[in-house]
Amino acid sequence: LPIQKIAVVGSGSWGTALARIAALNAAEKKGFDHEVRLWVREREIPGQGLLTDVINSTHMNHRYLPDVPLPHNLVAVSDLVNVVKNATLIVLVVPHQFLTPVLDELSKPGVLAVGARAISAIKGVEVAGDQIHTFPWLIEQKLGIPCSALGGANIAMEVAQSEFCETTIGVPSKDDAALWHAVFDSPMFRVHPIEDVSGVSLSGALKNVVALAAGFVDGMGYGGNTKAAILRIGLLEMAAFTKEFFPSSSSLTFSHHSAGVADLITSIILRGRNRKCAEAFIKTGKTFAQLEHELLKGQKLQGVATAEETYQFLLARERTEGYPLFTKVYKISFEGMDPKSLFDDL
Ligand code: NAD
Ligand code: 13P
Repeated sequence: LPIQKIAVVGSGSWGTALARIAALNAAEKKGFDHEVRLWVREREIPGQGLLTDVINSTHMNHRYLPDVPLPHNLVAVSDLVNVVKNATLIVLVVPHQFLTPVLDELSKPGVLAVGARAISAIKGVEVAGDQIHTFPWLIEQKLGIPCSALGGANIAMEVAQSEFCETTIGVPSKDDAALWHAVFDSPMFRVHPIEDVSGVSLSGALKNVVALAAGFVDGMGYGGNTKAAILRIGLLEMAAFTKEFFPSSSSLTFSHHSAGVADLITSIILRGRNRKCAEAFIKTGKTFAQLEHELLKGQKLQGVATAEETYQFLLARERTEGYPLFTKVYKISFEGMDPKSLFDDL
């Protein structure tokens, strides 16, 4: 088999945490080029020099994954074309609003190696009018290469600190399953491949909308019973949405896999950024843009844009009444609806 070379495009908290696992595996397992490249948006760190130099000399990403040592075979590179040069396995993990320019660059002739494959760990959806697509679909269309999806109960810092967890990869073929399993599986990060790319991708996107509802519940001061009800209703809306608009997906992805119910649980308990900002939205009356800036310090909220995109899609399809929780999350976030209305007609 040819030697596989891994590139990770995106160096936020999840990008860096995934790159750390991939680099540890590439150093240890047979069949991989030792060096894993990580795309970093270059900038000057006051008093320290260029960000890539700081990461490569300290072997830490202080801004997005502080205090986590990174393997020395993980190399930060600012030039995207250089990052993917000769790469056969490309991990796409930028916040979803920044993907388009990345794909434009990668789709230029000669940039990608022949036979390259991709995996998306991005949580979001692509909506245009009454059309909706997952990011793996978009990546396949734009790059002309197979794309898998990775999702699960995976708060980046907990994964980076090697706390035991699981993830799900939705794969288009058995070859993809074997390769991506080898890239990421490790004793404390168990990888389960399933043949449901769109289910894994959609579940990761839609659970962020439900996490906002859970944050509203916390912000209003309600307890575990209310949050459990939101979890149950939210999970049903996630599965129903996927069945209605992506009928080839499996409902088992939501009920049985880390990408489904488990990701939803971890996202609504405590540390999830969507939950946290939604709680603050209720308590402070500030906008989500302000809260993202103040509370996340450069990290990105994904659920608010997904709530809006999903709502606009449902409106275009005249199906908002089928998804009352998603619709209320949008209206509370964008139209000033009283948060207590969250529970009306649920
Ligand atoms: P992040 O929110 O920690 O960091 C933001 C990243 O965006 C940084 O790398 C920053 O350099 C980059 N960025 C900012 N402006 C940019 C621009 N104009 N163009 C390109 N990049 C820009 O990122 P993350 O947590 O790694 O999130 C990436 C994806 O992974 C998201 O879709 C997220 O939902 C998903 N995800 C995150 C976690 C988590 O716990 N953090 C877990 C699972 C999935
Ligand atoms: P947040 O973006 O809400 O922190 O969710 C992280 C996540 O997707 C965990 O799997």
